[in-house]
Amino acid sequence: MSHFDDALRYFTDAARLMDVSKNIEKLLVTPQRSLKVEVAIERDNGSIDVFPGYRIQHNGARGPYKGGIRYHPEANEDEVNALASLMTWKTAVVGIPFGGAKGGIGVDPRTLSESELQRLTRKFVDQIQMVIGPNLDIPAPDVNTNSQTMAWIVDQYAKYRGYEPGVVTGKPVELYGSKGRTEATGRGVALTTKWALEDMGRSVKGARVAVQGFGNVGSWAAKILESWGAKLVAVGDHAAYLENKEGFDTKLLSEHVAKSPERSVKGFPGADASTMEALFAADVDVLIPAALGGVITADIAKTIRAKVIAEGANGPTLPDAHKILVDKGVVIIPDILANAGGVTVSYFEWVQNTQRFYWEEDEVNLKLELRMRSAYDNVNRIAKGKKIDLRTAAFVEAIKEVGKATALRGI
Ligand code: GLU
Repeated sequence: MSHFDDALRYFTDAARLMDVSKNIEKLLVTPQRSLKVEVAIERDNGSIDVFPGYRIQHNGARGPYKGGIRYHPEANEDEVNALASLMTWKTAVVGIPFGGAKGGIGVDPRTLSESELQRLTRKFVDQIQMVIGPNLDIPAPDVNTNSQTMAWIVDQYAKYRGYEPGVVTGKPVELYGSKGRTEATGRGVALTTKWALEDMGRSVKGARVAVQGFGNVGSWAAKILESWGAKLVAVGDHAAYLENKEGFDTKLLSEHVAKSPERSVKGFPGADASTMEALFAADVDVLIPAALGGVITADIAKTIRAKVIAEGANGPTLPDAHKILVDKGVVIIPDILANAGGVTVSYFEWVQNTQRFYWEEDEVNLKLELRMRSAYDNVNRIAKGKKIDLRTAAFVEAIKEVGKATALRGI
């Protein structure tokens, strides 16, 4: 199965429960524009390398296209297409006035120097500048890209269209990024996790948590949950899996990762070695996949003991695994809700850029919490009313909103 087929299965399961006309359904499936480019750069040693790049705009019925850009060896047209469609549903679930898009370059950024990465980013902008813009399509960070990448994009874009800070979000605060944007995705994951636990009559205080991926999303989710009294007991990434029954000090762990040459939890003192299989099967209350897509397979799902899964990553759970988990009574907070805090604060950043008027962090965090809460309540209400799981309910809500906008705008 392709990534796009997996995303489509979730879409179709929800659409079947609704009264969506076949014509609208057709329009909601196909991406509106796919741009494939060859990104050629000169390496530091003088040789030339070429990497495939993509920007796929899935649906713009509710506003300018919005979504991150990832640098990963497995980024390809199928994956970017699936991720672009998830952005369409995500922006609709949290009710922000954007459509959905995604970009990617098929490259392992760990093999590039800082200046090679900068050249790669600028070259990519040269090739996609005609389809992005503050009212057209607004990229943001995703896997292996960050605020520095966004700063290079603003600068390169300015050479074509003039200075427009709102062309991307997730910028450094010094270049008019929003306060609170870096933490926002993790904060949204932590908030929805806390609410899901409370709905089950449990408390976040004392909850045991396992996190796969300790990058921006996983580390902030863990730090915020720990500040509310939860314990991170299992963690893992591309280079190592670790366990600590007493609970990791998430702040020290983050500092370790930032200093580590491999940007990994590997070598963190005072922890026991573990494996990916053990992390997923850990005796925890909460499991947060915050690395890549497709990691929770049917076989892994059978071993999961967590009561709540909060999808920090996009598309971590395959459809067959999703079904097994729902049948087991696991509450899955789906990606298009759990990790929507990032794009929500991206929206706040874009609003601040448009107004040239900047908010304090408390205000950003409060507005984020209010929006996430109302999206969470809304999805929960649909789930209870229709007796369906949270993912299907989130898709029902999103398809309803995007479907309405599509029908109203006409073809
Ligand atoms: N890449 C993030 C996501 O998947 C953020 C997208 C954005 O802020 O536009 O939601």
